Amino acid sequence: MIDIPELALVALVGISGSGKSTFARTHFRPTQVLSSDYFRGLIADDENDQSASADAFDALHYVAGKRLAAGRLTVVDATNLQKHGRAELVRVAREHDVLPVAIVLDVPEALAWERTEARADRDFGRPVLARMHRDLRRSVGSLAREGFRKVHVLRGPEAIAAAEIRYERLF
Ligand code: ATP
Ligand code: MG
Repeated sequence: MIDIPELALVALVGISGSGKSTFARTHFRPTQVLSSDYFRGLIADDENDQSASADAFDALHYVAGKRLAAGRLTVVDATNLQKHGRAELVRVAREHDVLPVAIVLDVPEALAWERTEARADRDFGRPVLARMHRDLRRSVGSLAREGFRKVHVLRGPEAIAAAEIRYERLF
């Protein structure tokens, strides 16, 4: 059971192919989920255009801030493997007195690669995924220190499939 506050900024953390977007679709309403792919598409007409990432994340953080200001649970569907990117999420959450929460989807690199290879909309090579996996290993231990108030780590596809979200009342 994953306990999260009724009002939270939820950062999904995981390598490509770990199942973040699938998890987001399963557990949250579409409008609650801000995905970096979607914002890249809005900015650049191409969800994979990495050169649009900076603007895409600016826009994503802006919308996240507006949602949190209105008291709406917000989920960030991005790999969130870089410390500086996560720091922005913690900053936006704090700015609105909202708790930042991390849900880590930790799947074996080989499984993520198998899934990624099968996708028409992903064309990076294995070394890129390997680097993500190293970044993930490095990230997991530091999330709490970075300000995430709860860190839920789902290890393996079974744990991810079995996860249920339970909302904690704030008052
Ligand atoms: P990215 O960071 O590249 O956006 P992601 O973490 O969002 O990746 P998904 O798009 O959710 O990953 O999943 C990657 C692929 O794996 C998809 O084709 C999806 O259908 C498949 N997949 C996700 N979860 C499962 C699962 N539990 N069982 C089987 N296939 C899955
Ligand atoms: Mg995705």
